[in-house]
Amino acid sequence: MTYPQLKITFLGTGTSSGVPMIGCHCEVCSSTDAKDKRLRSSILVQSAVTTLVVDTTPDFRYQMLREKVDKLDAVIFTHPHKDHIAGLDDVRAYNFFFKKPMEVFANSLTEAGLRREFMYIFSDKRYPGVPTVKLNHINDNPFWVGDILVEPILVHHLNMPVLGFKFNGFTYITDANRIDELEKVKIKNSTVIVINALRKEQHISHYTLREAEEIVNDLKIPNAFFTHISHQMGKHEDVNKCLPDNRKLAWDGLTLHI
Ligand SMILES: [Zn+2]
Ligand SMILES: [Zn+2]
Repeated sequence: MTYPQLKITFLGTGTSSGVPMIGCHCEVCSSTDAKDKRLRSSILVQSAVTTLVVDTTPDFRYQMLREKVDKLDAVIFTHPHKDHIAGLDDVRAYNFFFKKPMEVFANSLTEAGLRREFMYIFSDKRYPGVPTVKLNHINDNPFWVGDILVEPILVHHLNMPVLGFKFNGFTYITDANRIDELEKVKIKNSTVIVINALRKEQHISHYTLREAEEIVNDLKIPNAFFTHISHQMGKHEDVNKCLPDNRKLAWDGLTLHI
């Protein structure tokens, strides 16, 4: 099988509060650089025939409008934290235009979270106009979304298991602070990795910039972009200046062709 060419678009690269953060007037939150404006973390993955998003953030509606995503085939979820699922309600627009449920791929933990947070979507008595979704159960095994083969990578977010996803040579990992050796083997041959780096100071459930750099260097992955970034990281340009050419902070709207 030849893997289809993919276009990856960073829909958001910010941590759970986004950048700027409400009420904050630090130099990052006050910056006029467009690259210091970070919506919540998500990517769009597109082949010639299939379009999917990884996670539906609280900014999902605006992200779909900004990137002019008129057709969406599926949502694949990493984990059930609010900043990764909150936008699910807005798949209603796709239900309306395509007259079918949205294909949603989630593991058991995320499914339980979705059923809890979006009770009305899964209730037997459905209010007219609520979103319709078709749940596809995923675990550690690779799965297909249209013509795109997706390989789950299990990572740890303190005590919560989170799924990263590998698309041929491209790996996307968000919300991790630990990866088991066996899972590292799966991502070793990536040519591009996106991995979370919250800030420079230690954090209980996220990699720091230094830790994220160490992992991608250890695994000898040629190109890396960091995401899920806090205002505490510093200004985009200042931080990027200190990073090597092949290890950079991602930014909202960045596209890659894989
Ligand atoms: Zn998150
Ligand atoms: Zn701030």
